[in-house]
Amino acid sequence: MEKTNDKIIIKDLCVFAKHGVFKEEKIMGQKFLVSVELEVNTRKAGVSDNIELSVNYADVCEVIEGFMKEYTFNLIEAAAENLALVLFANFEQLKGVKITIKKPWAPIGMDVDYVAVSIERRWHRAYIALGSNMGDKLLYLENAVGSIKNDVNCKILKISDIILTEPYGPVEQDDFLNGCIMIDTLYTPHELLRFLQKLENDANRKRDVHWGPRTLDLDILLYDDLVLCDDELVIPHPEMHKRAFVLEPLKQIAPDAVHPLLHQRIRDMVQ
Ligand code: AMP
Repeated sequence: MEKTNDKIIIKDLCVFAKHGVFKEEKIMGQKFLVSVELEVNTRKAGVSDNIELSVNYADVCEVIEGFMKEYTFNLIEAAAENLALVLFANFEQLKGVKITIKKPWAPIGMDVDYVAVSIERRWHRAYIALGSNMGDKLLYLENAVGSIKNDVNCKILKISDIILTEPYGPVEQDDFLNGCIMIDTLYTPHELLRFLQKLENDANRKRDVHWGPRTLDLDILLYDDLVLCDDELVIPHPEMHKRAFVLEPLKQIAPDAVHPLLHQRIRDMVQ
């Protein structure tokens, strides 16, 4: 995903709200100071002098104040995490955000200027391969895409055609339907893996035969330009460059995406 160093900054928006572990904090309320750094490309708005092309900081302040007052969290960690989701849901142009929530009156019986939590969250561009070769294959793929679309942590940007492919590997089995999607996600790579595995489980996926037939297979192909390898997860997907049924649909939606280890564009890898 294209990065920008442009920022819109709001510092110490003062909101009286009711977050805290103690009952008194939830009843009486106290002062919170919320700061945000919004990662937004301001170039177009800057060149055109048109507020429609930017994120209006008055609107952002209103959303922050409304959110802080409407909900009650024990922890400012949770307030910050949920505020990030709300900001991403409200402001389409937002690529990333840094949120700091200060609590100057934290009831700790000592004199501090404030206690605070600061988090940074951003959209990550990922590509997911979809496959099915059991039951109502198309329905399994459509349901998976629907569930990804409905998750607040994901935005589906592109969906490839679904192609029919012959099975791969040593086990004799039915033909596959395969496709790819391009998403932006707030999930970390491991959170994304767990989310996709839950969708596989929801589709009654059994894991008894390695390489065997499956109702739903969801693989992370690429995640930004990340290179990662641990016991659970390998990114880029270690088989992707060898599989036409992955590369063909991926080429359709992201011909110019670059494999971060092979340093090749997808369009060139297909050849
Ligand atoms: P599969 O049979 O393709 O569903 O393989 C699932 C296993 O591969 C899971 O146990 C994952 O932890 C592991 N895995 C490793 N890298 C990836 C990846 N990039 N995407 C999905 N699963 C992965």
